[in-house]
Amino acid sequence: MIGTPGVRQSGIVARMPSVLAVNTGSSTVKFGAFETAGGTLAPVLRGRIESHGPGRRVLSLDTDGVVLTEAPWVDRGRDTAPDLLRWVEARLAGPVAGVGHRIVHGGPDFSQAVAATEPVLKALDALAPLAPLHQQQGLAGAWALRKSHPDLPQVLTFDTAFHGGHEPVADRLGLPRVWEARGLRRYGFHGLSYESVAEQLALLDPSTATGRVVTAHLGSGASLCALRNGRSVDSTMGATPLDGMVMGTRCGSLDPGVVLYLQQIAGLDAAELVDLLYRRSGLLGVSGLSGDMRVLLESDDLAAREAVDLFVYRAAREVATLAGSVEGLDGLVFTAGIGENSPRIRAEICARLAWLGVELDPAANSRGTGQLSAAGSPVTGWMIRTDEERMIARHASRLLGLDR
Ligand code: AMP
Repeated sequence: MIGTPGVRQSGIVARMPSVLAVNTGSSTVKFGAFETAGGTLAPVLRGRIESHGPGRRVLSLDTDGVVLTEAPWVDRGRDTAPDLLRWVEARLAGPVAGVGHRIVHGGPDFSQAVAATEPVLKALDALAPLAPLHQQQGLAGAWALRKSHPDLPQVLTFDTAFHGGHEPVADRLGLPRVWEARGLRRYGFHGLSYESVAEQLALLDPSTATGRVVTAHLGSGASLCALRNGRSVDSTMGATPLDGMVMGTRCGSLDPGVVLYLQQIAGLDAAELVDLLYRRSGLLGVSGLSGDMRVLLESDDLAAREAVDLFVYRAAREVATLAGSVEGLDGLVFTAGIGENSPRIRAEICARLAWLGVELDPAANSRGTGQLSAAGSPVTGWMIRTDEERMIARHASRLLGLDR
């Protein structure tokens, strides 16, 4: 609902040019407005539009993610972005100078932030089959704003971009080379999140940050990234955000023979396979109950426990695999909804990694702030809150020249 009374946060009149970061997920839109000046970004407003039962609601959040206000949300147009822009501008008491969007797939051609021109948007639309739950949802906001606000500068920022420096061997699929030439290779995703966490780790713990680190982004979508000196070396996600970890509703890595079987023997067509592998698998499929980790952790059901066990097992296995990519492990960082908020999942994953030198401090893990590892642990453990919106705003303000 536009201009809902009572959701105005006090004292947020932007004095400097501000950039709106729009982070469209499969079921929520996270957003943040940042003042940009002198090379710094200052958050002035943060929030989230989420589905809530049959309706949607808009939440405004403080810098720790604590909900300040909430109100029903109804889009007036077909896409949320123009209404969101008006909602934000009403609260900033002024226009935003530019908008940045998170786009999941940049494909082979977009390895850094780019202006949202029509040819670029069309080229990115063509990548939708490689990210059917996310690509068009992210692009829809940019298309809609081009119509509603044609003069507003818009920037697209990519989840794949942070992984652009991988050695070719890390991204090569075992397929005939003709497919690589056509763009089928491993890319890696959640890059804006990994960039945010790497930047924070470099400030919190510079010596670990310069070493070999695995960051586990464990949310509804889940992946892990191996970093050396703050740069991505390998990731569990591949050509699509379906690969790697078992997730809320996505299957993660699957023997490709299983897909052939589903097609040939069970007779599933392409749309049914997308629905099965992206929307009905993972924690939801294994538990038969929910893809939401909180629901599973509160359940006494055996299948819910088995789904949680699978998530923990696969996460620990992926940490070990990625330690192989960087030939050792100095740091392990947890982030995103589950990684930031569930001491139990962190503890269960780390218990499986004791052989690699991961020793948690149970009290620090329960508090869940900052460093989690015991004194003397060979691997330093951290919980770091990801801030994808800041990264989107950073890339957008740089490209628009608003950061000077
Ligand atoms: P994200 O996609 O990063 O927003 O993360 C969403 C996931 O985080 C969902 O599976 C939630 O159930 C999970 N989550 C959020 N808070 C908690 C919590 N306190 N304990 C366990 N899981 C949580």
